Parts: sequence; C-alpha cells; structure tokens
Amino acid sequence: MNFNLRSALPLLVPKAIAWAEARAAEIAARGLALNDLEVAIARRVGVAQPERIRVSLVPRLPIPDDPLLQLATLETGLLGPNMVGLTLGHCIYICLGHNSNRLLSHECRHVHQYEIAGSIATYLPNYLQQIVDFGYEDAPFEVDARAHETDV
Ligand SMILES: [Zn+2]
Repeated sequence: MNFNLRSALPLLVPKAIAWAEARAAEIAARGLALNDLEVAIARRVGVAQPERIRVSLVPRLPIPDDPLLQLATLETGLLGPNMVGLTLGHCIYICLGHNSNRLLSHECRHVHQYEIAGSIATYLPNYLQQIVDFGYEDAPFEVDARAHETDV
C-alpha cells in the first residue's frame, strides 16, 4: 500500500483526536499525580496547571486499533520502539526504564503546548501537520520541547 501521510492527514486527524482523548481519559482516571519535585519541573517549563498532570508508566506506548492510524504510526515512527514518552493533554505516557526528570521535563513542555492550544482537539491537528511538514526531529513543537529539557 502506497501510504502518503500528507494526503491521509484529513482522514487521520479526527481518528487521532478520538484515540488521544480516549487514552487521556484512561490516564486521567488511573495515572499518578506528580510529586513536589516533579511539579516544580512542570512549572519551570511553563505548565500552568501541574496538579492536573497524570503519568502512566507503561512497558511500551499503546498502538491504535484503527488500521489507518496504525499504518500512520508505523510510517512516522511516532509510537514506535524508539519513542519512550507521549503526552496527550495533561496526561503522559512514560515507558518503564526511561522515567527521568529530563524526559518528564520534555513531556511537560508538550503539556504547556497543549495548554496554550486549549485542548487535544486543537493541538493535535497542528502537531501532526508539523510532523508532515518538518518531520519529527524538526517539528517546531519538538524543537521547543527539546530546548526546555532539564535534569532538575
Ligand atoms: Zn516530544
């Protein structure tokens, strides 16, 4: 199958939003709140409401059931084995063995980006468009998150 992410994007975005909102609801219900040091890290990278953040430690990032979303994640590597964190609104997946202040600070900067955007439904279309236009490494949201990484 010849998969073109750019042309598939209009179809992908609503599916990605629905998937992300469902995962975020699960993490919001069962995830861990930040401790005091982690709250300080979240504030340092610009999070306005760190008390809303929940973290789910997982063996690996979840893969969507939807075949088109699955294909897109394979093509982009977005949920692949090299990805050890994923932020959906105030909810964060962190892969077991990769839990560090540096990764948390990176993911918290994405939380800040979601706060500025207002919601998963308003942030994800822009994020995915950046992945299409710039690639993962050079997507402005990823460049910004890397620039705010901190160990303490
Ligand atoms: Zn990132």
